[in-house]
Amino acid sequence: MNKKEYAGIDYFRIIAVLLVIAIHTSPLLSISRIGNFILTRIIGRVAVPFFFMTSGFFLFNELSKRRLYGFLQKIGLLYGISIILYLPINIYNGYFAQDDLLLNILKDIIFDGTLYHLWYLPAIMIGAYISFHLIKRLGYKKAFALAIILYIIGLLGDSYFGLTRSFKPLRGLYEYIFMVSDFTRNGVFFAPVFLILGGMIAKRKKQCSIQFYMIGFFTTLLLMIVEGLYINGIRFQRHDSMYILLIPTMFFLFNMLILFEGKSLIILRKTAMIIYIIHPMVIIGIRLIAKLTNMQSLLIDNNLVHYIIVSILSCISALSIAMFLQKKCVYVDNGKAEKDKDRAWIEINYSNLKHNVTELKKTMSDKCEFMAVVKADAYGHGAIKVSTYLNKIGIRSFAVATIDEGIALRKHGIIGDILILGYTDVSRIQDIISFNLIQTVVDYEYAGKLDEYGYSIEVHIKIDTGMHRIGENASDINKISEMFHYKNLNVSGIYTHLCVADSVKEQDIKFSNGQINSFNTLLDKLKVKGIKLPKVHVQSSYGILNYPELDYNYARIGIALYGAIDTVRDKTKVQLNLRPVLSLRAKVALVRNINKDESVSYGRTFTAKKEMLIAVIAIGYADGVPRNLSCESGNVLIHGFRVPIIGRVCMDQLIVDITDVPQVKQGDIVTLIGKDGRDSIYVTEVANNCSSIPNEILSRLSCRLKKIYI
Ligand SMILES: *Cc1c(COP(=O)(O)O)cnc(C)c1O
Repeated sequence: MNKKEYAGIDYFRIIAVLLVIAIHTSPLLSISRIGNFILTRIIGRVAVPFFFMTSGFFLFNELSKRRLYGFLQKIGLLYGISIILYLPINIYNGYFAQDDLLLNILKDIIFDGTLYHLWYLPAIMIGAYISFHLIKRLGYKKAFALAIILYIIGLLGDSYFGLTRSFKPLRGLYEYIFMVSDFTRNGVFFAPVFLILGGMIAKRKKQCSIQFYMIGFFTTLLLMIVEGLYINGIRFQRHDSMYILLIPTMFFLFNMLILFEGKSLIILRKTAMIIYIIHPMVIIGIRLIAKLTNMQSLLIDNNLVHYIIVSILSCISALSIAMFLQKKCVYVDNGKAEKDKDRAWIEINYSNLKHNVTELKKTMSDKCEFMAVVKADAYGHGAIKVSTYLNKIGIRSFAVATIDEGIALRKHGIIGDILILGYTDVSRIQDIISFNLIQTVVDYEYAGKLDEYGYSIEVHIKIDTGMHRIGENASDINKISEMFHYKNLNVSGIYTHLCVADSVKEQDIKFSNGQINSFNTLLDKLKVKGIKLPKVHVQSSYGILNYPELDYNYARIGIALYGAIDTVRDKTKVQLNLRPVLSLRAKVALVRNINKDESVSYGRTFTAKKEMLIAVIAIGYADGVPRNLSCESGNVLIHGFRVPIIGRVCMDQLIVDITDVPQVKQGDIVTLIGKDGRDSIYVTEVANNCSSIPNEILSRLSCRLKKIYI
């Protein structure tokens, strides 16, 4: 079930908003008056309906009150911020000095916008509210018909006002309308038709070819230009944002855009919106600069140059703001480490990562797809960097533990499937959908809640076969098959998890086989019930290594991908040459002598039996070095020699005995995980020394450490 990315919509947002800037700056005015009219008053009029349709397309493909209110809240907040942002300009313009102030404020807030371009925000809110209730009461087709009537009423107060003008009673009626709203181009008359059309396009099953829509678009656009020029010629227009042919033109344009194939760019969505909000500010800024520098003739009087400068500056500022907002809510990437500058850091070796992918793929059939498990910041390796690299070498499936881990990947352009393995609170369903993530169904009850949301959501159903963690009981065949019939669940996968796949003990193998059998039995029963099986998966790293004969659609591989398995010691059925991807290093803070009977570190657990040389290393348990490595439980490598940790590991430092390596000096590099000279410390060894497992050691490495990717 391939989800479309709708890249065409993302790209056209920028074109549309550049058209809006054109409407407000008239770029062609100094070249050709008529050319400028065609560009800004006719062609440019596709921009706002495009934004309406996009909202309708994503909002009204199903009817959900919760989503509507979420949308209204979001736009409302944006509108509030924009009003405040432009308040100084209102004050400067003498807005607050006008008569009937309160009435005008109300009118502007609801219909006209407190500054000229802001009318769009209340319009889309009112339009969405009206459209939702029309569709709910009447269904899509009748709602659309009614919205067209509203549009016609709007037309008669806009481009076709000439007809109204010549018909007195009608004219009186419109005078009332104009008392409430300066234009008929508002949320009542203008927005619903496009919002509902967007929703109808999203719901419809059949589609024609992109060529068909393209021809349709250019034909109707041409006719709309004729229409615009004609009614302008006979001076029909009171205002010029609504044309009869705008509706078919938008129909063809939007269909053309959703068929456009390419990679979507989420950042463009925010950027376009910010450009829309801020471009009048940029126009004012440039006017100010021009005045101060006496460059009016270049910056202002030449409309084309003015337009280009406004567009470029608006785009750059908006992109920076969008990127800043995006950074704020994703992982803190604390920048690039520099070996010669930092006190401690992580090194990630891409070529070893690639080597492990190749090695692991050898054990998998062609049918089985590699699902890279990048939860917990890719086991401390940096999820964004690792996933970007894996994308580059062809991996198209990822698993994360939490929704925010998934969102962070999407925001950094990771493509392919992203499965959330864990529980997500139902209040975040909209994010799952917006970021095109796949949610794990943790049990039957949860499936019901997802379905209730009223909007199609992609899921994998988790089955419990004996781990007794998350998943619906494998024996509950009725509940499981029912989930497949939920209207709003798009079930693209079903899976279980083995809990002793790493063990080669006889009773553990028996247990795993029991899990596998009960899962397979369930699948057979589902087939008998006529359910077409989605993608199926069972194995994680040890599942692949100890049960290579299994052949499912995915293998969810975590720890083995990072080369943190010792297949020889573990006696796995398949022996692979996996290479560690991560190294952990720190620097010597100082070297000192201590005398016999002097103690070291907190708690005085270590006392020197003789005069000795010690080194203080600038890394501690706050960086993720387990405190259980204290008191000679762990070692580090220094100048290629293995030396013990003495005394207690502190929060930010630890101490080693270097009596036998007297050449050590301040600033020397120490290896806690990785290779130095001929010796290596594997994370499996570190884990053994403190009765943990590599997964825990790696995933708890702190974000205080910077990472170097080599
Ligand atoms: C973490 C996890 C994996 C990956 O396990 P590894 O042993 O690291 O390969 C696979 N499946 C599920 C459900 C997990 O939670």
